[in-house]
Amino acid sequence: MTASYSALDLAGRINTTKGIRRMSWLILGATSMGLGIWSMHFVGMLAMSLPIPISYDMEYVVLSVILAIFVSSIALLTVTRRTLGIKELVASGVLMAAGISGMHYVGMAAMLIGINYDHLLVLLSIGIAATASALALWLLFYFRKDQSRHAVWYKLGSALIMGAGIAGMHYTGMYAAHFHLGDNMSYRSGLEIEPNKLGYMITIATLFLLGMTVFGVFITKRLSQKDSVIQEHAGWYRSLYHNNADGIISVDTNGLIMSVNPAVTRIIGVPAEGYIHQHVSAFQINVTEELRALTQERYHQSFNMETSSYDTTIVHPDGTKVELNIVNIPVEIEGNVIGNHIIARDVTEEKLAKGQIEHLAYHDELTGLPNRRMLNELLTKAMTDNEFSAIQFAVIALDIDRFKMINDSLGHTYGDIFLQAVSDRIQACVAGVDAVVSRLGGDEFIIICRSSMDDTVYAALAERIVEAMRQPFSLKDNDFYISTSIGIALFPQDSQDPVELLKQADAAMYQVKKNGKNGYQFYTSDLDVELLGRIELEADLRKAVKRNELVVFYQPQVSTMDNRMVGVEALVRWNHPTRGVLMPGTFIPLAEETGLIYEIGNWVMYEACRQMRAWHDAGGPLIPVSVNLSTQQFHHTDLLEQVERVLSETGLAAQYLELEITESMMMDATVSTTILLALNKLGIRISLDDFGTGYSSLSYLKIFPIHKLKIDRSFITDISSNENDKAIVATIIAMAQHLKLDVVAEGIETKDQLDILMENDCREIQGYYFSKPLSAEEVERAFFVPLRGSAV
Ligand code: C2E
Ligand code: MG
Ligand code: MG
Repeated sequence: MTASYSALDLAGRINTTKGIRRMSWLILGATSMGLGIWSMHFVGMLAMSLPIPISYDMEYVVLSVILAIFVSSIALLTVTRRTLGIKELVASGVLMAAGISGMHYVGMAAMLIGINYDHLLVLLSIGIAATASALALWLLFYFRKDQSRHAVWYKLGSALIMGAGIAGMHYTGMYAAHFHLGDNMSYRSGLEIEPNKLGYMITIATLFLLGMTVFGVFITKRLSQKDSVIQEHAGWYRSLYHNNADGIISVDTNGLIMSVNPAVTRIIGVPAEGYIHQHVSAFQINVTEELRALTQERYHQSFNMETSSYDTTIVHPDGTKVELNIVNIPVEIEGNVIGNHIIARDVTEEKLAKGQIEHLAYHDELTGLPNRRMLNELLTKAMTDNEFSAIQFAVIALDIDRFKMINDSLGHTYGDIFLQAVSDRIQACVAGVDAVVSRLGGDEFIIICRSSMDDTVYAALAERIVEAMRQPFSLKDNDFYISTSIGIALFPQDSQDPVELLKQADAAMYQVKKNGKNGYQFYTSDLDVELLGRIELEADLRKAVKRNELVVFYQPQVSTMDNRMVGVEALVRWNHPTRGVLMPGTFIPLAEETGLIYEIGNWVMYEACRQMRAWHDAGGPLIPVSVNLSTQQFHHTDLLEQVERVLSETGLAAQYLELEITESMMMDATVSTTILLALNKLGIRISLDDFGTGYSSLSYLKIFPIHKLKIDRSFITDISSNENDKAIVATIIAMAQHLKLDVVAEGIETKDQLDILMENDCREIQGYYFSKPLSAEEVERAFFVPLRGSAV
């Protein structure tokens, strides 16, 4: 039994090996099993006590050993077969039974003693041998691959049956024998073995068997360690296969599907198990129709022994489209490709995100229009296309006049809504024309329009847009009226360079603005250089506030009575990084055109108040600062908010802030009066700047809540020589006194001018005669410090 067990156990190893190693295992196993069976047999015979000493015929003994080993070989060969049909089982059983019986009866025949057999019992013994063999073989064959811990029991069971079968056969055979002293006792062959020698042989065989068993146990342990490692690895791979989020379809070299993992079902949207044993092309039905042929082709290409990948799209029964990335991985065992894993990854979201990112990179988020990057690409493309088709195109630059003001007064949320509305209108205007509208930011729109015809197409488009923009925009329950300036530059006539073309369109657009806005113009080469310079200046000005390039200078206003400084006017300067200090005359009009004045004006107001508060804190004198307001600031809905914010943030008392407005701002008397009254209520003083240059009716002076008139410099310049100017100035001073308004004369440069003003009872003056506008430090050093201590 031990022999059967150890042999059958070794037989298990036979299965896992091939070639010579398999052969060696087989021989070793068969020998050990054969010797075991044989030993059992002869020990049994030795155990039989016969009244006379018996010798054995050597040849028969050897033959019986050979038969035992042969029987064992049959057993091992049978259990290690790949398949085992009933026929083979019966054949093996019969062969084994014949072998075992043969071995037994040859062994018996080896005894040098006469034997008579009971034939019925002999047959029975053979039957027992056959049944036991078949049963043991069957049992072992079916459980040979079982790796569980029950395997031991199957092997044991099998060995037990085998052992019992052989033993049963043996003892039945012995029982069938009737020994008598007779012919058989005579010497038959050349060799004869004494029973005690046979004992040695059996001992040797048993030792061999024992050795084999120990060896078998050792090997089993080694191999079972290896097995558990293999099993663990298999477990790892199994869960990688089973739990993989990617679908895995395993096909053999003929493309027949061997297995699929659960993810396949999720990915294709139908149960994937149904595809097993079908050809992989069955999956094609899920692929979108237009991609089927291509996918098939890619699939075939991918079978080239290397990992390869391609993309395709499939459709679920409910119509959902799923983007897939397919990777083909050949399955290689010992250098032979035995199939492929087709791995399908759902990349729908990935592709969507990629598409969105790409869209974002090339489109303006607010309006969804192409952005600057896309515009540049389109322009370059349009130019290269042109080389072949000779189609000219126009770059149309469009700017909303006073957009900044609208944006600031409405707040950014409404500013955005407004821009979307503008974008919609432009797009409606280009309908039917070969044109692309893009937005470069803010209110800057560029249209590329292609036409093989003449310029009238562009002119008509521009006119349509100007007209469309003139219609009011309803925002925040109000109708807003805007106007648009459009500049057009043509390719290839004006330039063949994309950057240049954009500049030219801009230049033409600025020309429109300069000429009173609301219209369009084609670029012409005589658009002055100055204008191009202004375009650059505008770009710089946009950054000036953030870069801290603006500074406020202060010009003292002096009392003619005692030459004491009674106030200062804040005048902005721009420290341009390359052009040096720029005066307001060069950039304030530009700031007004572009709407930048709102930001700049608020900054100047803040800075002037902060500085005056600092001077007050440093010991005074407690005088006011006057700040110039632009029309846009004046009409801005949050003017009061801004003024209050500045005062509260800087801590300057309202009575020390004077705001300078001009006559031209007060076209609408009711609106202006409301604003002025509100400012008055805050405690702020108002001066009417550049007085005398506007055309407003003098009668308004009595209704406007203002405190001071500033006589414009143009009346002063020639005052000493021009009698008319002198008369006008005298009249203004008299009228102001009559209306109880203060008067300041601007631009006094000479003693003569001063004298004339003093003669006319002008009590305050401002001019180079006393001081030019100075930086904060200079004015502090020259005027504030000397007055400290004696100040009011
Ligand atoms: P304004 O408000 O009438 O300011 C007086 C201008 O006359 C200042 O010019 C000043 O330097 C100049 N001036 C004063 N005394 C004399 C003189 O004796 N002779 C001559 N030739 N000029 C004299 P500036 O600083 O160049 O400013 C020009 C204009 O720019 C200002 O005229 C004002 O309308 C505007 N401005 C200046 N700063 C601001 C500002 O912060 N906001 C706004 N909206 N406008 C400003
Ligand atoms: Mg002024
Ligand atoms: Mg002035």
